[in-house]
Amino acid sequence: YSTAVEVEEPISPPVKVNYTQLLIDGKFVDSASGKTFPTLDPRTGDVIAHVAEGDVEDINRAVSAARKAFDEGPWPRMTAYERSNILLRFADLIEKHNDELAALETWDNGKPYEQAAKIEVPMLARLMRYYAGWADKIHGLIVPADGPHHVQTLHEPIGVAGQIIPWNFPLLMFAWKVGPALACGNTIVLKSAEQTPLSAIYAAKLLYEAGLPEGVINVISGFGATAGAALASHMEVDKLAFTGSTDTGKIILQLAAKSNLKPVTLELGGKSPFIVCEDADVDKAAEMAHFALFFNQGQCCCAGSRTFVHEKVYDEFIEKAKALAKNRAVGDPFKSGIEQGPQIDKKQFDKILGYIRSGIECGATLETGGERFGDKGYYIQPTVFTNVKDDALIAKEEIFGPVQTILKYKNLDEVIQRSNASRYGLAAGVFTQNIDTANTLTRALRVGSVFINCFDVFDAAIPFGGYKMSGQGREKGIYSLSNYLQVKAVVTPLKNP
Ligand code: ADP
Repeated sequence: YSTAVEVEEPISPPVKVNYTQLLIDGKFVDSASGKTFPTLDPRTGDVIAHVAEGDVEDINRAVSAARKAFDEGPWPRMTAYERSNILLRFADLIEKHNDELAALETWDNGKPYEQAAKIEVPMLARLMRYYAGWADKIHGLIVPADGPHHVQTLHEPIGVAGQIIPWNFPLLMFAWKVGPALACGNTIVLKSAEQTPLSAIYAAKLLYEAGLPEGVINVISGFGATAGAALASHMEVDKLAFTGSTDTGKIILQLAAKSNLKPVTLELGGKSPFIVCEDADVDKAAEMAHFALFFNQGQCCCAGSRTFVHEKVYDEFIEKAKALAKNRAVGDPFKSGIEQGPQIDKKQFDKILGYIRSGIECGATLETGGERFGDKGYYIQPTVFTNVKDDALIAKEEIFGPVQTILKYKNLDEVIQRSNASRYGLAAGVFTQNIDTANTLTRALRVGSVFINCFDVFDAAIPFGGYKMSGQGREKGIYSLSNYLQVKAVVTPLKNP
């Protein structure tokens, strides 16, 4: 790569931006202040659209609407089968509008269109069908307590759910939060990320088209410190779900505690080890390690961002990792065959280039990349560092960009200790053909997901979440339901036990 490479004129996105207002009580409305903010195209930094900027008053209006929709119904009192059917119709509409949703996602976020259209939007539909399947299978227990009592538990929706989502997978994060909340009969106020407001409004509009009663989902575009903080602090919000950085997660938890002690689930940062063992198939391991790090421009909370390679296969692995990075197709995400688009915004772009500089300064070997790609927008060359020390910033902190950090290790005990020496514990990759090695690593690693000879398998049924400072609670799968349910114990004396 050379910085002189000029990125071609941006391809015109095959979609129009139709919805830019807030969605409150089933209607599109301007923000109370009348303010808007620009959402930018990461390919150029140009304005895509001006979007209504929600703030405290809009959050108040949205929470009132969600409160009313919960307290007065019909949503929580509809039959579970009816709720399930609305989610199924929503999934059909997602499929019908697959290409528009994918195009909005690519335009706002910069991710390859083919990835959005063939993987992410279909996953949104799949998740909705998965949770539609749960809606009518949620029930309590009969509890065999001591004494002459009939004891049962009712599993009830928790109420108004506040949901704050990030910009790296706007539609998937929408799905992970909205699917279980609706299946359990809750109402929602969702705040999208200020970098990517467009797809959530569009998806929520489709939910209403599918028959969702007014006020059940309310979508507020806006900033974290204003709209986000107002949602996290709101006294009438019964539950909060957040995905984003660990630092913001700490603030969210404090706001929840200082207001009404609403329970909070957090899905935060990571610095996930990807461990290539001495017996691994090096070709496959290099490809999977490349995918684990570079997927989505490196903007994944669970990115395999510490690539630990056994000394016996280290040299061979590096040659392959380098070749893969050099051959990665970077360019306009609307172009066919492109694997890597621009980073989300100037702030992340500068931050990633700062980490690259720190890698060079601390004495790691820059094997390839290291600079911006082209001269427009926020593209960064696929970058590989080797000879990285554990205490280097690039080996400790979340870079959230296309920068692979390769570390050498000698034996299993050592790599377990080094892998776990992180404040994070989101995921790990393990590459080996030895079942004992796989079992040993799986049990020793303090992380929420272990991918053995694979990575980033995001099936709707597989729970996802972090140990340590990577988060609290699990999303997806059966585990997500308990986040959105209250358990009521009901005790009745028995006349004739
Ligand atoms: P990033 O640094 O990657 O943008 P953040 O954790 O700051 O990640 O953002 C994730 C989401 O959290 C976004 O929707 C953002 O607006 C929101 N957010 C940021 N700061 C706050 C805050 N103080 N209170 C509530 N939400 C916030």
